[in-house]
Amino acid sequence: MDPRHAILFEPVQIGPKTLPNRFYQVPHATGFGSSKPRTHAAFRGVKAQGGWGGVCIDYAPVSRDSDEMPAHAADCWDLEDMQRLGLVADAIHEHGSLAGIELFHGGGESHNGESRATRIAPSQVGSEWRHSNLAKEMTLDDIERVQNDFVVAARRARDVGFDIIYVYGAHGYLMGQWLSQVTNRRTDRYGGSLENRARFQTETIERVRAAVGDDCAIAVRMSVHGRDELPGIDIDEMLEVVGMIDPIVDLFDINVGSWPEDSGTSRYYPEGHQRPWTSLVRSATTKPIVGVGRYTNPDLMAAIIRSGELDLIGAARPAIADPYLPTKIREGRLDDVRECTGSNLCILREETFSHVGCMQNATAGEEYRRGWHPEIYTRPTDPERSILVVGAGAAGMECAMVLGKRGYAAVHLVEAEPAIGGKLRWTRQLPTLGDWGRVIDHRVIGLAKLDNVEVITNRRLTAADVLGYGADTVIMATGSAWSGDGHQPLRAEPIMGAGRGLTPEQIMAGQRPPLGRVVVYDTDGYYVAPGIAELLVLEGYDTHLVTTKDTISPISDESLEGDMLRRHLHSLGVHFHTGMTITEVAAGEVRGENSFGDPWSLAAEGTVLVTQQVSENALYRELVSDPVALERNGIRAVYVIGDAVAPGMPSEAVFDGHRLARELESADPMVPMPWLRERPSL
Ligand code: ADP
Repeated sequence: MDPRHAILFEPVQIGPKTLPNRFYQVPHATGFGSSKPRTHAAFRGVKAQGGWGGVCIDYAPVSRDSDEMPAHAADCWDLEDMQRLGLVADAIHEHGSLAGIELFHGGGESHNGESRATRIAPSQVGSEWRHSNLAKEMTLDDIERVQNDFVVAARRARDVGFDIIYVYGAHGYLMGQWLSQVTNRRTDRYGGSLENRARFQTETIERVRAAVGDDCAIAVRMSVHGRDELPGIDIDEMLEVVGMIDPIVDLFDINVGSWPEDSGTSRYYPEGHQRPWTSLVRSATTKPIVGVGRYTNPDLMAAIIRSGELDLIGAARPAIADPYLPTKIREGRLDDVRECTGSNLCILREETFSHVGCMQNATAGEEYRRGWHPEIYTRPTDPERSILVVGAGAAGMECAMVLGKRGYAAVHLVEAEPAIGGKLRWTRQLPTLGDWGRVIDHRVIGLAKLDNVEVITNRRLTAADVLGYGADTVIMATGSAWSGDGHQPLRAEPIMGAGRGLTPEQIMAGQRPPLGRVVVYDTDGYYVAPGIAELLVLEGYDTHLVTTKDTISPISDESLEGDMLRRHLHSLGVHFHTGMTITEVAAGEVRGENSFGDPWSLAAEGTVLVTQQVSENALYRELVSDPVALERNGIRAVYVIGDAVAPGMPSEAVFDGHRLARELESADPMVPMPWLRERPSL
């Protein structure tokens, strides 16, 4: 171990428990909760195995009127729920780590999609998210009941083995609703002064502590101001609350600002961006503090611990990307770290009610159901195969690397371009998207370490080249390209005059319209069109972003960056036109219609079409159309992966390449093998 990083491996006392080191995986959602306990257990267990000294599970609603349906939270409404979660604690303990559970109530922000329960909140105040059904103002009986639910859940959590019991007070849920003057307008002893507004939280912590405090560490998660203000409570008041509850808390888990700021993407927030705010909390408590900030750099981690700002390095996203981050730091294997890209694709998946997933780590969430381990690869039953992977984008790089790690005799990864990376090579050059390139960097390093894998660049293979290559297995990973012919969703006819426009690839290869007004037309809704618009506005174009969607880049809302993205582009001078469909690119103007079907046009010297991608699979189709030629050349199978099958997000291309490499010996590797499912037995 590098002695400079030794401080990260010191044990830390939190109340009656000792963390084995300073690496702490903070609570975060996965989509598993208590409904998929084995999936959940394997996901958290591998983090403990990878060296995280503290590992927390999903947020855990304690009451039936805090139900997250359709999301799967770690509901702990009854004993069976908690027994299921106990399996997760067991998996964490197997590797000597402490298990944490974040007891939670959503208050006025609860979904209650399953229970149909009336939401409860300190006051009857309209919610930003739950528009039509307002919450009921909590009575004193409600207060007693919910506090009791926390206590019952805490006792059960202790009984099934949890070491760290949270009272969740961050991100605007019930505890935060009590603290804020915006959501707490009461005039009784629970409203008004700061002491009164903090009473619900203080009493709850006191009661939980009285119930389990001798056996478990009591943690509180709290938000303090960041760049984004917290409505109704300022930083000084928050620090006062920290001071108030300090005697009854063993660990402070500190968040900043809003959730989009707290889980800030790499586009707008650098590693450690929360430090100016989290560091203020030190003045209010001597208890251990954990904070996050997409930390992957051990020098920075060690410096932060030395400064006294934090006692534990918290992580959600970097631990998803690399469950073995602590082990790799301890062993000095920094170049093996799969660094988090900060894309928030994990959060995007959660926000769309999917299982957790990761652009860097295809095994995230697949530990139980597919039996994938992030660092262990099963030896193939037929290792003598010689395998040719054509195309080194996200899918091809990952596939070749996993095939190499599995130990196939000879794997060749052949790429037409001068370097590997595919579309991510230019994506990383878009303003603010540089860290997405970590997907390439990790694989460049990983591939170079594998003696059985050869990477060949600057070679575009034809069908004849593939046939004569000498491989017995061919995997086509030739990707996709943005359509230049004006095909777009929900329209039978292509855009007239589409040939006058440029595609994103042409822009990134250096082509430009004449300087003046440019229209970037987006029917995709994610990062490409805003990225191109930013690039062009920075070069001095009068840039107009036109989209069929109701808002600019709606998918970015699910990765928590929509507001920032729109504010950022607006501040740079990009003009927005939403709800518009372009049907013609004419000389000097684009024409189309608004969402009501009224004609619309805009003068423009240039147009960039970000409409849809098309798979590059002609080579694959040519090869499989001639089975006799394949057989004559000793090729026993040709498969296709990634965007060449269906264009999508880089995370899906990585996943597809990984899956095929893991399942190459299956009866039909093009069809995913069945995975283990968790469902109640009949
Ligand atoms: P994915 O996301 O599925 O990995 P990409 O489009 O990012 O797809 O990458 C596909 C890669 O395949 C590109 O780098 C492209 O240059 C390469 N490629 C496409 N056709 C060939 C070919 N015939 N020979 C070698 N490389 C190819």
